Amino acid sequence: MNVSLGYPVPKPPAQAEPLRVAPGIFWLRMPLPFRLDHINLWLIDEGDGYTLVDTGIANDATRAVWECVFAGPLKTKPLQRIVCTHCHPDHMGLAGWLGPRFGIPLHASQSDWAFCRMLAREGGADFLDCQEQFYCRAGFGPEDLALVRGRGNTYGTRVVPPPPSFSRLLDGQTVRMGGSDWRPISGRGHSPEHMCLYSADRKVLISGDQILPKISPVVGVWPQEPDANPLDLFISSLERYRGLPEDTLVLPSHGLPFTGLERRLDQLAHHHDARLDDTRRGCVEWAPARQILDTLFPRPLDNIEVFFAAGETVAHLHYLMGLGQVERRFDADGVYRFRAR
Ligand SMILES: [Zn+2]
Repeated sequence: MNVSLGYPVPKPPAQAEPLRVAPGIFWLRMPLPFRLDHINLWLIDEGDGYTLVDTGIANDATRAVWECVFAGPLKTKPLQRIVCTHCHPDHMGLAGWLGPRFGIPLHASQSDWAFCRMLAREGGADFLDCQEQFYCRAGFGPEDLALVRGRGNTYGTRVVPPPPSFSRLLDGQTVRMGGSDWRPISGRGHSPEHMCLYSADRKVLISGDQILPKISPVVGVWPQEPDANPLDLFISSLERYRGLPEDTLVLPSHGLPFTGLERRLDQLAHHHDARLDDTRRGCVEWAPARQILDTLFPRPLDNIEVFFAAGETVAHLHYLMGLGQVERRFDADGVYRFRAR
């Protein structure tokens, strides 16, 4: 637990039992099949139904919990609308299942709706070539590259394609939820256009994955945009959440609801300073990203984590390249190598 933050609701809800965290706002937890084993969803009371924020990953375990929720706490008050903070499978994975089931709209940023809808259907030869090329350039060997090809589109296995139409969340507009005004505040770097939602009336910020209390959000470069600098986007986005009242209750997608937003923003920025120092240290004479990854992630990584770690390592390298502190060359073996200047 991060001791510098306040945790007004220190115990998560039992499975399929929404827990009130603020007037008219309920916390629901769904399982995840990863080391990070849960996601927090939020139900906002609309009187005769609920707005749901985020949906859970598309697998049988999450669907089973949803069936319990529908047969129990939500039996007489159905879902009326879905809001997704961003496109990742644990957030938007079941929007395409819940939406048609209740005939209700999906609200999301245009970028994340479109990215999810596209990526859910990817899997052709050019997609696999793009994946393989990215990890080859990062310095992965033939065995890992065969794994990349063999696993195909893992994203597509964790989402139901979101509905073909949606309602667009725009930064700075006003959205009415639970009788209050909420303002979407967009963030970048974790997903294309991640939407947090802030209610000044309630002093509540639904922060999605953009701001988490304990872990640092994944900020990675992915094969679709191999030259991106998402860490620059992420760090500059953090500034957009400053200046909210000190007693704002932050509702994150992982971990516990917390207070102390400014302190957490400082910690997240500082965390990346330390990671950037590690990255610079890993850039010994012309090292590939796969080698630098071992400096940044010294613990053993499984076959899923290592590819996320590669994306994060490349993100730190690109940030340092942007600052002119690291240079990159492309070698005849098809691998990028990096060196501190
Ligand atoms: Zn995410």
